[in-house]
Amino acid sequence: MVARPVEQEFRGARLRLVETLRERGIRDLAVLRAFEQTPRHQFVPTGLRHRAYEDSALPIGNGQTISQPSIHARYLELLALNGRERVLEVGTGSGYQTVLLGHLVEQVFTIERIAALYQQAREAIQRSGVANVSMLLGDGTLGWREYAPYDAILVSAGAPSVPEPLLAQIAEGGRMLVPVGAKDEQRLVIYRRVNGQLDHKEVAPVRFVPLVGHHGWDKDERR
Ligand code: SAM
Repeated sequence: MVARPVEQEFRGARLRLVETLRERGIRDLAVLRAFEQTPRHQFVPTGLRHRAYEDSALPIGNGQTISQPSIHARYLELLALNGRERVLEVGTGSGYQTVLLGHLVEQVFTIERIAALYQQAREAIQRSGVANVSMLLGDGTLGWREYAPYDAILVSAGAPSVPEPLLAQIAEGGRMLVPVGAKDEQRLVIYRRVNGQLDHKEVAPVRFVPLVGHHGWDKDERR
């Protein structure tokens, strides 16, 4: 008997996840297609593969998590992407959202501060076949000046206040999504640069792991 490729084995579960996202109000067809194309089970620890297509956050090691799919979907829908963007992602984590973005935009730049996660994500992204991703191991609160400005910036961890270097790296007409607030609860804020001016709007309460870095939380800071 010939074994089925892993992607095919989980195809039914992946289609059910896409249906769940539709039921939760996600309408952007390109976003839904990206979820259909991205094998989430390859971005979670092997022992959790059977839960990969639940709409829940899961641990990925080093005290970090892969976010809930409906949160990723909402983030991506809010950015109203047209496929031509250059996007900066702060907090690669498992690399799952990186690959979703890879299907949705022209070029993705992603930064992770934990070496072990960076390495795991690098391998998973390579396996996915997405080829428009540039990765950096470092402090994403500083942004990635070499390739700035960006049409969209997604911050995937909670900041105590908005990192100034990231604001400076939003292109004209660009936007940034960033969770801001306490360590255990934040407000998701969207910034836009229009005619050279930045405006911002609160979107929803959210809960992310802390953004640790020069313009984020201290590594050893206690609450
Ligand atoms: N979206 C990711 C996914 O699909 O797996 C999940 C991201 S996880 C919620 C947040 C990530 O941000 C963690 O991997 C954490 O190590 C990383 N992080 C925290 N502070 C960072 C910083 N200053 N620069 C880069 N990455 C950071």
